[in-house]
Amino acid sequence: MKLAQLLLLALLMAGCAHHEEQARQTLKPTVYTVNYPLAYFAERLAGDQIEIVFPEMEGDPAFWEPTPEKILEFQNADLILLNGAEYAKWVSSAALPEDRLVNTARGLESQLIALDGSGSHAHASGDAHVHGDVAFTLWLNPELAVHQAKTIYASLSRMVALDDVALIALVADLEKLDADLKEVFQPLEKKPLLGSHPVYQYLAAHYDLNMESVHWEPDSEPDRAMWRELEDILETHKADVMLWEDEPLPSVKKALAQKGIKSVVFNPCGNRPPDGDFLTVMRANVEAVKGL
Ligand SMILES: [Zn+2]
Repeated sequence: MKLAQLLLLALLMAGCAHHEEQARQTLKPTVYTVNYPLAYFAERLAGDQIEIVFPEMEGDPAFWEPTPEKILEFQNADLILLNGAEYAKWVSSAALPEDRLVNTARGLESQLIALDGSGSHAHASGDAHVHGDVAFTLWLNPELAVHQAKTIYASLSRMVALDDVALIALVADLEKLDADLKEVFQPLEKKPLLGSHPVYQYLAAHYDLNMESVHWEPDSEPDRAMWRELEDILETHKADVMLWEDEPLPSVKKALAQKGIKSVVFNPCGNRPPDGDFLTVMRANVEAVKGL
């Protein structure tokens, strides 16, 4: 063989080896999720067999507005886990591949809670956003979270062989959480409660809570109209506890305390927590309610 031919052959072989290396790296399927709870369930179920990606984002993933680059990442995923219940408005306009979408709320249609309009309006001040027609924080009812986890398990099992030990352990954790929440909410059953944001519908329904919600944010001061809305609610709904997604501003907490309303953090955990995981956040919620 002539030198040039040898060189070409060597180059081709190197190219092949490079290709094989790439193929090996991409053998692991990639699954994208639209919120953190779904990512947590998928991570527990898939172990290291699947790359689970929940992109870093600020604020509530339900109201995320992805860049075109991020949408492209989702479009290229092997599978996309959706929350269902019309969650994350960007999903419907992003041209995601239908055959790779998994609605983890499939089968829960009859249990979805319609919003009566109380949470569907946006205020001028603060982080203005609209909640739509259906309540979406399904995972705050652990029974619905189990359904979502099982749907994820079934979908991932079609991509790789999974051990059902992981599913059994996750379901056991969620059932334990359900029992603990039942216990701490039992003394509050049917008593008037307040939600600072319309995200507790499935929690309230599951634990028989009598909750009315305003549309406030933990990191902003409610304006006069928002305080007036609370006053209106209190006229017929004499609550002395308000659930918050995160620690409210000290000034707001104090103003509520002056009305005899105690603030308690019950974090829905839609986004990845800075510390711990879904279960540690839920356990902290249990402790917070227990301390009331
Ligand atoms: Zn909102």
